[in-house]
This record gives sequence, C-alpha cells and structure tokens, in this order.
Amino acid sequence: MSIAGNVGLEDLPRICPLISRRVQNSMGSPKTRNVIVSNVRFGGIRPVVIAGPCAVESMEQTLAVARAVKEAGAEMLRGGAFKPRTSPHDFQGLGIEGLRILREVRRETGLPIVTEVMDPRLVATVAEYADMLQIGSRNMQNYPLLIEAGKSGRPVLLKRGMAASLCEWLGAAEYIAKEGNLEIVLCERGIKAYPAGEYSRNVLDLSVVPAVKAETFLPVIVDPSHATGVASMVEAASCAAIEFGGDGLLIEVACDHKGAARPKCDAAQAINPATLRNIVQFIDTRTEIRMSRKAHAV
Ligand code: PEP
Ligand code: MN
Repeated sequence: MSIAGNVGLEDLPRICPLISRRVQNSMGSPKTRNVIVSNVRFGGIRPVVIAGPCAVESMEQTLAVARAVKEAGAEMLRGGAFKPRTSPHDFQGLGIEGLRILREVRRETGLPIVTEVMDPRLVATVAEYADMLQIGSRNMQNYPLLIEAGKSGRPVLLKRGMAASLCEWLGAAEYIAKEGNLEIVLCERGIKAYPAGEYSRNVLDLSVVPAVKAETFLPVIVDPSHATGVASMVEAASCAAIEFGGDGLLIEVACDHKGAARPKCDAAQAINPATLRNIVQFIDTRTEIRMSRKAHAV
C-alpha cells in the first residue's frame, strides 16, 4: 500500500518527463545540458562562479562588489533587488531601482546578472533587466511564478526549497520546462534538518548533486553561502561542492576594504574577494585536471 501523495524516484518519469534522464535518454539528449546565459556556459567542463552581494543596496556598493568579484575571477553577478525577508520590518530590497542599478553595473563590468523574482506579476519586468531569473527557496513551489518564468524567455536559476525532496524540486523544474523553457539551472542551497541552526544556517546536502545528475540532464550548482550561513565555512563548502560534481557556485561576497559598509542582509555569510579568488583558483586546478584526463581518455 502506498501513502497518498507520496512520490519516489520511480515516479520521476511520470512527474517530470521533459527533464527526466530516464525518459529523454532514449531521445539521445546530451550528458548534461549546456545552459547559456549571455557568454556564460553552465554544464560545460568548467564550473561557473556567480558571485555578488546578497542584496543590491546602492550603486556604489553593487559596483564595488561587482568589480571585486570580476577581478577575483567570477563570471556572473548575483544581487537581490527584491528580497524575501523573514521580517516585513527588515530591508526588503530596492525593487525596480535595484534592477536599474544591476543593469548599469552590467554595462560597466560586462558581467551577466542573475536576480530573484518573487511575484508572478513582475516576471516580465525583471526579465527586461536580468540575464537570468532566480526563483528562491521560499518560492520553489509557487506554481504561477514557475509558469511565468517558463514563459519569460529567460534562463531560470531554480533554487531547492528548504524542505523539498528531490522529486518536488524536479517537479517544480518541470513546470518551467512545460512552458517550453529548458534553460534551467538547479541550485542546492541547504535544507532544514536536524540540528537546524546550531552551528550552521542549513544543512548542505551535497549528496543531492550526483542524484540530480543521475535523474536529469539539467546543470546543478551549489550555494554554499545560504547553506552554511557562516563565512568561514564557505570556501571548504565550495570546494566540496565542486568535488561532488557541481556545475557551479552561487556565492555572497562583500567588500572588506576600510570604510566598506557592513551588508544589510546576510553579513555573517559574506566572504571577502580574496577568499573568492582562492575558490576560483581551486576551480582552475580542478578544471585543468579534468581536461587533461579527458585528453588522455581519447
Ligand atoms: C538568495 O540567494 O538571495 C536567497 C534569498 O536565497 P534562498 O532563496 O536560497 O534563501
Ligand atoms: Mn542572502
């Protein structure tokens, strides 16, 4: 007897036929789909580093962080204009003004932008400014939002819900795919599990990375910032995520030069640009090894 509503991996070909490797394999789909965002390729041999502030707070702050992460080797810029905050009294993001700042910073630095959209009514507007739409953990099962993102014509970064199973996560991705949009990158960002919050913000579930790869052809990246919530853990978590086969990283960074303001959100998990550079160097080394193994294999 099965429990009503309970689904398992064996149900994935039915839940998400468009993105299930077991269904699509017979149609000759490639190993991991390459999702192209502007000049950045997810799913290729080199993992992609997306870095930037948690929130867009001002032109000055966003440009300074963007320049620093570019210098450290990041290929894309993150930054929230619309922030999902636990308290409605906390900084909610700059909204449209934040999008304008992101567009200007993109023009200045050449870095493509990923930014979160929370409201289905704002998808078209955010899609005008951003190169990639982020759907956050809290909204992973906001089906009207997923459908609008699917229709937007933009690639989508779909974060895992903080209490979502793999089936629920892939089911959410299928909503985007069903609208004809297969430009989807998945992002593991830590899940709520015992011992919640005692020494890290969430529990980084690295085992899900190879599981995603086994079940779907979509690229999957890891957010070590929200997964740990602790800046000193981010470098090790990033390296581990790459070793587990992650196609990239989404990392929160803040400038640490004299006079730089403390971020208004998630300050405790922001790493400095020097630490980001270490992570990029680790990726450089791993990529060289992979490429030489590939060259020797042929
Ligand atoms: C974010 O990346 O800005 C964010 C809010 O993350 P999450 O949705 O994973 O909590
Ligand atoms: Mn954050």
